[in-house]
Amino acid sequence: MSRIAVVGAGPAGCVATHRLINAGCRVVLFEQGVGLQDFHSARSSIHFSDALAEEQLLDHSSDVTDAGNSALPYVRGKGVGGTSSVNAMVQTWGCPDDYNQWERIFGCTGWGWSSVRQEFQNLHMGSSRSVDLGRFSREVVDVALRMGASGVQHGAACADGAGSVALSVVDGQRLDAFSAYVLPLLRNAESAALLEVRTHSTVEAVVMEGGVAKGVALGDGTEEHFDAVVMCAGAIWSPLLLLRSGLYGPAIGRNLQDHPSLSIIVQMAQNVEETLPEVTSLVVASSAMGESNIHLLPVNATSNGSGMQFAQLAAAVTKVSSRGSVKEVDQKAELSLRSLTTDDDAEAMRAAIILASDVLAPLKESGLVVECYVDNTGTRLHELLAHDQASMAKFVQRQLGAYSHVSGSCAMGNVESEHAAVSTSGSVFNAQGLWVADASVFPDIPRGATQLPTMMVASRIARGIAQQLR
Ligand SMILES: Cc1cc2nc3c(=O)[nH]c(=O)nc-3n(C[C@H](O)[C@H](O)[C@H](O)COP(=O)(O)OP(=O)(O)OC[C@H]3O[C@@H](n4cnc5c(N)ncnc54)[C@H](O)[C@@H]3O)c2cc1C
Repeated sequence: MSRIAVVGAGPAGCVATHRLINAGCRVVLFEQGVGLQDFHSARSSIHFSDALAEEQLLDHSSDVTDAGNSALPYVRGKGVGGTSSVNAMVQTWGCPDDYNQWERIFGCTGWGWSSVRQEFQNLHMGSSRSVDLGRFSREVVDVALRMGASGVQHGAACADGAGSVALSVVDGQRLDAFSAYVLPLLRNAESAALLEVRTHSTVEAVVMEGGVAKGVALGDGTEEHFDAVVMCAGAIWSPLLLLRSGLYGPAIGRNLQDHPSLSIIVQMAQNVEETLPEVTSLVVASSAMGESNIHLLPVNATSNGSGMQFAQLAAAVTKVSSRGSVKEVDQKAELSLRSLTTDDDAEAMRAAIILASDVLAPLKESGLVVECYVDNTGTRLHELLAHDQASMAKFVQRQLGAYSHVSGSCAMGNVESEHAAVSTSGSVFNAQGLWVADASVFPDIPRGATQLPTMMVASRIARGIAQQLR
């Protein structure tokens, strides 16, 4: 029976572990952060601001260094569940054509929509919607509908329109990936016998011998032997751990993508603090640069302690051609996102900001909204709109927005492709017994939030590994 190391207990690592154990493999799941017993109740809170305030749930090991000023932190989740313990719980899959393009343009045979849809349908992350969207969310959706948007319930395949989003919330509590996929294994005697979860356990590198992955080197200086290693450390650290392990390839750590976004801080006239999740709805729109390539994400108001109430509206571009890279410097990850460095992306961002302004204008006219700011120093939205496209793009690059969807840094594809670091089954080129099974492998970022696409990819790659090792 094969013994496999899965590195990282985020959404990817949890699903991969589940699939491997169900196929009869033995798994040790390594997680650098805390385990369930160390968690504060904030972890199950439906308010992601509560979870983000918990230092032990955050990984501060990454900075963005290309924003034109000093390094900005790019925070991720840490501890079992990974970023699913601190994120906004929004469930979207992306657009069918995103996956058809993986197949058609990036040579990822077998990853077209008709194949991945089934995999998405097999994911179980709970799925509920807030009946009450919250005052700010509801107003944004209503304005978008009055402007001609269709009313939709966002969930599976993306579509233009305004309406509620499906959330990973069950019985009023966040459902993180560890609770959904690993806890049930630990509660079943048969599967628990095959699984070991090691928290506070950092994998420093993969032990390679003659091109074969032999195991992992751990932070305490020890090495442990395995038959195979599956990297699920996220799109920042999976490529960096490969590079640390002596693996080379022009695409490892390159092709990094994210959804550029601008958080518009909306000062409300009245106290509209909500007990609902911050994010309950979404507006998806098309621009001249592409279909369904703009998201407006209302974030319900939370108190800043000063008596005034602030909501946010994230304006994001979800179909992008800009690509950056990640490298390791002094044990920290340095991300060069190069967001909005193509004209198409900058133009789409401008369209997203204009749409956000159009949606917010009636709320200001009605007196519900007092003012809209685009940074912490009081720059107003209308001042930003006076900028030309290039300086608007520069401004947005300096604001790390609400969408943190890094991916693509070990892209799948053909061995001949300069773009690809792993095969279409996730196996690392020029290595045996070594796979990547997280958002790193996206050849192109889909038009949706990335947790479910990451889980879809991990599920599919893990099934393939289990078949190969059987
Ligand atoms: C603030 C925020 C809000 C978001 N909101 C949403 C949302 O609403 N919907 C959505 O779909 N997506 C959202 N996302 C994105 C989504 O959470 C990620 O796409 C998803 O978590 C990626 O999963 P992953 O398993 O690849 O990586 P991660 O979730 O980053 O998990 C990686 C895990 O590996 C561990 N690890 C890393 N290095 C090592 C090592 N060397 N040894 C051992 N363990 C290691 C980390 O501690 C972590 O637990 C959000 C992201 C952020 C930051």
